[in-house]
Amino acid sequence: MKSSRLAVLLTILAAFVVAPFSTGHTSPKPVEPPATFFDETLITSYHGVEASEASEASGREDLTGGIREEIPAKYVSRYQAWKDEFLSTEAGRDQWASYQNNPNFTLNVIVARDNAEGATTGHYKWNDAGQLIAATITLGVRLDEGYPNPIYFPVMNSLVPNDSTNRVSGSTLAATKIAHEFGHVNRTTKVDSTMYQLQSQLIPQYNKIFLSNGRNPNDPRLLELSQKIGGTPVQIWEDREYWGEANAMMYLRDRVTEEGLRCSLFSKIKHSVDLYAKDYEPRFLEIARATPSRKICGWQ
Ligand SMILES: [Zn+2]
Repeated sequence: MKSSRLAVLLTILAAFVVAPFSTGHTSPKPVEPPATFFDETLITSYHGVEASEASEASGREDLTGGIREEIPAKYVSRYQAWKDEFLSTEAGRDQWASYQNNPNFTLNVIVARDNAEGATTGHYKWNDAGQLIAATITLGVRLDEGYPNPIYFPVMNSLVPNDSTNRVSGSTLAATKIAHEFGHVNRTTKVDSTMYQLQSQLIPQYNKIFLSNGRNPNDPRLLELSQKIGGTPVQIWEDREYWGEANAMMYLRDRVTEEGLRCSLFSKIKHSVDLYAKDYEPRFLEIARATPSRKICGWQ
């Protein structure tokens, strides 16, 4: 982990974790970098608790393909506004159509009161051949409010308004979150199903050992676990979240056509990626560069 990134991460962790207990400390003890420990709260603050759960079937057994929307009547009009925003871009329309027209994959989209300003994707189902055949995106009822942290969510966080003339609408914020969730589905269709399920199963085990062994990432049990699941929990979650964010960036790239605003957002994204996600920069860079006729606003 880069030291600049670590410093900011520790500052944020300190604000949430250390501060309430630090009364009277005059010489703060050096804090071990949480390089291998997955601080779930940084993800669950947006995704809710489901993001870290194994993907169990939810009882939605209707696998007839396409997109199945389950929206309580009370929330239909706001959902429609968010969806229209998502579909106002080519990226949104293409992705929506690809799931809508796929008879072999069922995408459930539901709106729920839990985790009101967040969203999550889960309830993945694979067939015996290891192909993903179903997923459920759950959107909070106030998806058009709230900005996730910049550590795991550099794109959604770029929408934090910095002045009154430079802000996007709540519906655009909601659609950016929808794009993030679609990014998770898009990615999960491509990864190895056995590996994905193994990761969901073993990450809690990893964290449990890590917390009980004096936080020693070189514990042979942990080295063995991370070899099995293709990385430490932090690496696995970073990778997943930044795929979601890359898709969110694609949506914003298409949605925000006004150059000044797009550049302002892209610059903020770059700043957060530089700080927290440097190893994952190429996937964001690719999106910035995908429209050669437009300025790439600080991305090189
Ligand atoms: Zn995510």
